[in-house]
Amino acid sequence: MAICTGCSLLCEDIEATIKDGNITAVKNLCRKGNGHYQALKTDRTKPMIDGKEVALDAAVSKAVEILKNSKNPLLCGWSNMTMEAQAAGILLARKLGATICDTSPTCQEDLMERIMDGKIPTCTLDDVRNFADTSVFWGSDPSNSHPRHLSRFSYYPRGEKRQKSYEEERICVTVDVRKSATATLCSNYYFRQPPGGDAEFAEAVLAVLDGKIPKVGDKKRMIELGTLLRKTEYGVIFPGPGMLLALQGKMDLFEKLVAKLNEITKFKVLPMPEHCNTRGYYQLMREQTGFINGVSLRGGAPAHGPEQRLAAAAKSCDAVLAVGSDPLAELPLATARALTRANVPLIAIDPHRSLTTDAAKVVIPSAMSGLEAGGTALRMDGVKIAFEPLIKPGKPDLLSDEQILARIMEAI
Ligand code: SF4
Repeated sequence: MAICTGCSLLCEDIEATIKDGNITAVKNLCRKGNGHYQALKTDRTKPMIDGKEVALDAAVSKAVEILKNSKNPLLCGWSNMTMEAQAAGILLARKLGATICDTSPTCQEDLMERIMDGKIPTCTLDDVRNFADTSVFWGSDPSNSHPRHLSRFSYYPRGEKRQKSYEEERICVTVDVRKSATATLCSNYYFRQPPGGDAEFAEAVLAVLDGKIPKVGDKKRMIELGTLLRKTEYGVIFPGPGMLLALQGKMDLFEKLVAKLNEITKFKVLPMPEHCNTRGYYQLMREQTGFINGVSLRGGAPAHGPEQRLAAAAKSCDAVLAVGSDPLAELPLATARALTRANVPLIAIDPHRSLTTDAAKVVIPSAMSGLEAGGTALRMDGVKIAFEPLIKPGKPDLLSDEQILARIMEAI
């Protein structure tokens, strides 16, 4: 069986037929995974300096020169690559005395930290399939972000204790600013929130669980929701970026809500990062630096604080290495602009052409993790998935992210 690294579900039931080193047929991919596999043949990068194609060695040497001359480098990205490459990146950051960040919003980091600290209970996706009777998609839309989530784990499959599945035993609740594809497809209860109204919604749920009349929302429907949550045997909340951004700085309220639910019944929380190995990056960073993201490794003890957040680090750095993501497409405009300031050379390591590679001074092509490069990654629930390369890279000199970072490290 092959694996798909198209999202953080890391589906490992992909059946691929390989002939003469090419993939000729694939089964079990969703449309997003299919796009990911098709990307093997589209928009691949070439080694470049200042927009001109060069030999790979020249691009690597230029990247080394830039990083060597930098006094305050920023290494960002990391979530779409193997844990082995992430570990090589942390080593490189130590050697350079660099700041290292991923591109996810700080609120996701806050939630993940509470989960890793055991303040908010979590579970695996296999627990969801086997036991969950209520799934709450709050600001998340797996039909688009993780297309096989509903069919493999949270709504359609039969599980150990959920043999009657969605027909009788699984309830899906969606909370979103618009009727998302997930809400349209399977939501038994859909709660529309105004943008940024998630804290009021959380307060209203807390009120109904306390037997009080909620101050906001349709009171009758909120009381119905309270009844459903009380009757739940094993509930799981899947927070998405919409909810996390709205609750930025208010995660205590969410923790309080989850604690209240667990006084009544069993409720878990499983965040849904989109990139294939965000969870692996957080875990490695925590193990190796003590913090899950936004860390300066410039001598002494690792430093973590507002200065090391990507938005601030982008303004103060004098060179950028972007690897394992497309920060210019993903970050707020002000941060993207700061990353592309004049006189701040940008190095991009990426298998594909992107906004970041188009803006980069140096581009180093890399093999696609999971398809052309093997390694390990953590699924969104923290389960470790190991994979072998499915095919050999299209070009003999195409290296994995790990190999490129190791080469840079060696030269420095
Ligand atoms: S759900 Fe995600 S990992 Fe699974 S096939 Fe689709 S894109 Fe790939």
